[in-house]
Amino acid sequence: MKDTDKLEALLRSLNLKSFVRNYKDFAEKAHKQKLTHIAYLAELVQVESTERQSRKVERLIKGAKLPRGKTLDGFDLSKQPSLSPGRLKELAQGDFLDLCENLLIFGIPGAGKTHLSSSLAREWCLRGRRIFYTTAAMLVQELLVAKRDLKLNEMIKKLDGFEALVIDDISYVPYTRDETDVLFVLLAARYETRSVVITSNLAFSDWGTIFKDPMTTRAAIDRLIHHATILELTESYRQKEANKRKKAQEQKKDPEEN
Ligand code: ADP
Ligand code: MG
Repeated sequence: MKDTDKLEALLRSLNLKSFVRNYKDFAEKAHKQKLTHIAYLAELVQVESTERQSRKVERLIKGAKLPRGKTLDGFDLSKQPSLSPGRLKELAQGDFLDLCENLLIFGIPGAGKTHLSSSLAREWCLRGRRIFYTTAAMLVQELLVAKRDLKLNEMIKKLDGFEALVIDDISYVPYTRDETDVLFVLLAARYETRSVVITSNLAFSDWGTIFKDPMTTRAAIDRLIHHATILELTESYRQKEANKRKKAQEQKKDPEEN
């Protein structure tokens, strides 16, 4: 076996893909530029590390099951005076995930809750965090199936692998008692051990419609807000955009009048 074959087999067995691809070209360049052995090696390691990092981020984003196309850059903050750029930047940093704190985002339909929560989730993935995004409707169905198959604990443990679980639109579904129960079990299991991000159209005062009896409602809210950041998106972006379009159309039709 040639030396290079032996080396490549070893590099592959160590999963050093970028080393295998680059070591010859880099060696030639190092020779031409009279680089030291150490500089040559450092360059190879640097490329390997960068590529690994970007493969990891790709995996994290894919695994997070985020809705497509929503980024923080595309989130217009001027439309949400209740949220400052500094606060948003801090949230995007994701340090609160280390403290297992929660993020609760309230707002009327169209306010940007899905956009904000999913683009924040994307930012956390870019910073190497394991995140899972789901809608409440989807989540409760999956929890119920797991419970029916006696695999509820298994599913909760699997979700425990994610530093944040984004539950979008918790107020959307009229829950049955069974659905409420599994949701509560999940939230209780994550309390102080893992972060939850929840979006809701309903204020806490109306959460009785989600968790049914007052005790469970109180217990769920207490656990969620014990360590939490609460954001209220006050304006409907969708409505504002629709109004803008309507006005532009009217102006087009009758420029004199405006
Ligand atoms: P919600 O989940 O609160 O009902 P969405 O996040 O679905 O609202 O937002 C409705 C639409 O408006 C989406 O297309 C979203 O991308 C857009 N949108 C909402 N808020 C903003 C914003 N601040 N900047 C840019 N686009 C926004
Ligand atoms: Mg939404």
